[in-house]
Amino acid sequence: PDLTMPQFLDRSAKNLPERDAVIFAGVKLSYPTLAAMVNKIAAALADLGIKKGDRVAIMSPNCPQYIVGFMATLKLGAIVVQVNPMYVERELEHVLNDSEAETIIAYDAFYPRIKNVQNVTQLKNVILFALGQPAGTADGSVLKAEELLMKYPPEFTQVPVNMDEDVAVFQYTGGTTGVSKGAMLIHRNITANALQVAEWFEQLEYGNEKVLCVLPFFHSYGMTTAMNLSIIYAATMIVTPRFEIKQCLETIKAYKPTLFPGVPTMYIAINNYPNVQEYGINTIKGCISGSAPLPVEVAETFERITEGLLVEGYGLSETSPVTHCNPMLGKRKAGSIGIPLPDTDCKIVDLETGERELPPGEVGELCIKGPQVMKGYWNMPEETAKTLRNGWIYTGDIAKMDEEGYFYIVDRKKDMIIAGGYNIYPRDIEEVLFEHPKVLEAVVAGVPDPYRGETVKAFVVLKEGQQATEEEIIEFCKANLAKYKVPRLVEFRSELPKTTVGKILRRILREEEVKKQQ
Ligand code: ATP
Repeated sequence: PDLTMPQFLDRSAKNLPERDAVIFAGVKLSYPTLAAMVNKIAAALADLGIKKGDRVAIMSPNCPQYIVGFMATLKLGAIVVQVNPMYVERELEHVLNDSEAETIIAYDAFYPRIKNVQNVTQLKNVILFALGQPAGTADGSVLKAEELLMKYPPEFTQVPVNMDEDVAVFQYTGGTTGVSKGAMLIHRNITANALQVAEWFEQLEYGNEKVLCVLPFFHSYGMTTAMNLSIIYAATMIVTPRFEIKQCLETIKAYKPTLFPGVPTMYIAINNYPNVQEYGINTIKGCISGSAPLPVEVAETFERITEGLLVEGYGLSETSPVTHCNPMLGKRKAGSIGIPLPDTDCKIVDLETGERELPPGEVGELCIKGPQVMKGYWNMPEETAKTLRNGWIYTGDIAKMDEEGYFYIVDRKKDMIIAGGYNIYPRDIEEVLFEHPKVLEAVVAGVPDPYRGETVKAFVVLKEGQQATEEEIIEFCKANLAKYKVPRLVEFRSELPKTTVGKILRRILREEEVKKQQ
């Protein structure tokens, strides 16, 4: 059906009034309760003068209030600006000014940062909510969500929107490779993508699933696969504010989720946790890994020790985000991101011009077309024209397709290392490093080199209690890689810099090396 996300929520509330929508910190909220909260906050926002097309920022960890703020904004036809709660003031100021948001809904503990940027942004309305005890940071100038919930009525009708034109969400990209851009996702994008992913699971039962919501909702991957998919399927969202391995495993044991979308670092943490067999991961119908490459070794170890099902998928903020996934029931291929989701067209084009389509087996840039592809970047017409051409999005990812239509991400265009005239893909080397029995995590970056232009450097985190030498790692690579790919330098670290969704920030490591050499 052609419904907006809040209309899907109303539908689930009507169809399954008894069903738990959210379980958070041991508290359960039914679908009708959640839908009523959304209506009250939508009425409050309308009363503040917020209209269709206005931007409402949400800065919150995963919690029921996040969902309420998100759906209430869409019910008004206003636009959700997804704000990463880890942002420091400078970053927060940037997103608020870039999006021109006049309203923010936030967790009260974050208020000090908001207050400090308020006079350099257009923020007029600050709505805070507490989780448990109020943080004590609010002052007289803010509105309290708890009071709004008491004041407004539980009915609110969806303001009409054009599903194929009107923007629902500004999804700022992760900033892994450079400045973060505001991808404009329309209502169609976000509902279509949740439906595409749901269809992919094949065996999803309406009203009968439980989704582990540990991926942050402010990132498109969590928004779509954890929140929106759940609401469309009247699933119970088991919500945790952040990923912490012990808590995650305890939650799995206690609530027995049926789906677990996650990122590679979560599955690595599970692989290295003692006695993981005791937590019942094998009762989850499907774990999906996306957002960064899932090393083959990690996937194999996960399935061996947990007996769970882990499939790799792929996507980007600009595509709401999911475009590919390995089949849940059909043939899965190690190291592959799988095949395109329903209604998704893909092609591989040459890296130089982007115009020539390449045959299976050849390496080029991955381009995608489908109902999940964004409308464009907010206020960035040049970037939009470069990225969206004739309805195709140029992903910036280097990929190839095999004869059976399975896709493989070779690397990101921006991460390719050029050393002594050779093109080197960090990922090839990282796959080998992950096979080393002492290695917990590894990343490879090109660092400046006076003779070769760039040279390959590996940054390695060892498993607890392990020791290794630089030579030992280099020897292992020599035995498994062509000579030109072997790292010349190895540095051991206790941890690697990561984005809040757990992507390793190669860019930061590279910048550190450049600085060291200056
Ligand atoms: P920015 O675009 O600002 O640098 P970002 O890339 O982290 O930040 P996202 O939209 O969150 O922003 O990430 C999309 C990218 O993540 C893809 O373009 C791709 O490079 C990478 N990615 C996602 N899934 C996979 C996967 N399964 N294998 C390899 N890479 C992946």
